[in-house]
Amino acid sequence: MGLDGINAAYSVTYEIDRKCGTDYFERFKKWLAYIQEENLMVVGAMTDPKGDRSKGPAEQVDPDQYLRIVERRDDGLVIRGAKLHMTGGVNSHEILIMPTTAMDEKSKDYAVVCAIPADAPGVTMIFGRQANDDRKDNRERIDSGNPVFGGVGGEAVIAFEDVFVPRERVFMDGKTEFTNALVYRFAAHHRANYGGCKTGLIDVLTGAVTYLTQIQGTAGASHVRDKVTEMIHLGETLYSSSIACAAEGWPTPSGAYMVDTMLANVGKHNATRFHFEVARLAADLAGGFLATLPSEYDLNSEDTGHLVKKYFSGVAGIPTEERIKIGRLIESMIGGTALVESMHGAGSPQAQRVMIFREGDLDKKVKLAKTLAGIAPERNRKGA
Ligand SMILES: Cc1cc2nc3c(=O)[nH]c(=O)nc-3n(C[C@H](O)[C@H](O)[C@H](O)COP(=O)(O)OP(=O)(O)OC[C@H]3O[C@@H](n4cnc5c(N)ncnc54)[C@H](O)[C@@H]3O)c2cc1C
Repeated sequence: MGLDGINAAYSVTYEIDRKCGTDYFERFKKWLAYIQEENLMVVGAMTDPKGDRSKGPAEQVDPDQYLRIVERRDDGLVIRGAKLHMTGGVNSHEILIMPTTAMDEKSKDYAVVCAIPADAPGVTMIFGRQANDDRKDNRERIDSGNPVFGGVGGEAVIAFEDVFVPRERVFMDGKTEFTNALVYRFAAHHRANYGGCKTGLIDVLTGAVTYLTQIQGTAGASHVRDKVTEMIHLGETLYSSSIACAAEGWPTPSGAYMVDTMLANVGKHNATRFHFEVARLAADLAGGFLATLPSEYDLNSEDTGHLVKKYFSGVAGIPTEERIKIGRLIESMIGGTALVESMHGAGSPQAQRVMIFREGDLDKKVKLAKTLAGIAPERNRKGA
């Protein structure tokens, strides 16, 4: 997320300076050089709580539902608000703060881009709960599914209670006309990542399901091979969008490259569907034991262990424990948190549909159709 924020802020601060004569780009480059030299992790903090979604930042009953500037001082700004769902929040050194939506003139105090250290006075992080995290708390190895790594990105709420931001760390203040470009570029860069990220997950899930079918004796069936083929197909389709939107990238005036926004949005939109379909196929091929398996305490118990091993076995010669481990891995990968991340991370599906419709160049498509159908171009009325 930090990388996507850096990509967006780099090109937009350059353009603000060119138009407004400010020095945001120089400040931003200094901060960027600092985090590169010190090898620091950055959380990209865009999403505000948003309160009543039918109202903009300036119309909220509680004005802190969108992060805002509460005081402007000669030496910097004081900010208040919160950023939700912050991936890598608790394991980052720096927070790059950006507005969550395009702002109008009424919302000048909300049009702020800045960076602060994660331990700045007034910053509080509240770690989020994820599906199965209590199993990890209890040090369950098998039942946590993936005992080595955390679930999704260890998201946290980051609250900012009147946090001071020194002037040199302010990269935009009140420039509402640039908020659209900033959000648009950040979102496109972030959406571009999904084909790489989710394909990695789908590869692991496909491998887990394939092994499970081998040790359950179903791998040779034609419908099983077909469903595994579909899982591979969906994963590789996501991957293609990520490669394509990068290959079609273009240089912004700052020199930093932008991805192709249509292809990035299409790729992320596919992630909101394909990951769910892959999860459906995985649950189909795995069987009901994903939902009803006894715990690893029962597996290891003197009273019940022999029964669990006997009645959850598969192909002879494979330890039952292997089937249970793979089942738990699949359970953890198709559970709540992972799929919600594919749906809402980098924006809910409608956010991509808005971009896809806007960039779909429908006039050109209508013209192509009319030309082939032999309809005169002068009769082409916009919106008709
Ligand atoms: C695991 C995870 C990690 C994330 N990591 C980060 C991160 O590191 N940094 C970051 O900045 N963000 C992050 N996000 C946030 C993500 O970008 C948001 O979840 C996303 O933009 C949706 O916002 P929301 O959750 O507030 O849902 P909402 O915006 O409330 O959306 C819920 C539904 O309401 C609809 N809706 C919303 N507003 C309106 C309206 N005005 N009218 C009609 N319908 C509406 C939406 O289309 C959607 O269907 C992360 C999210 C997740 C789940």
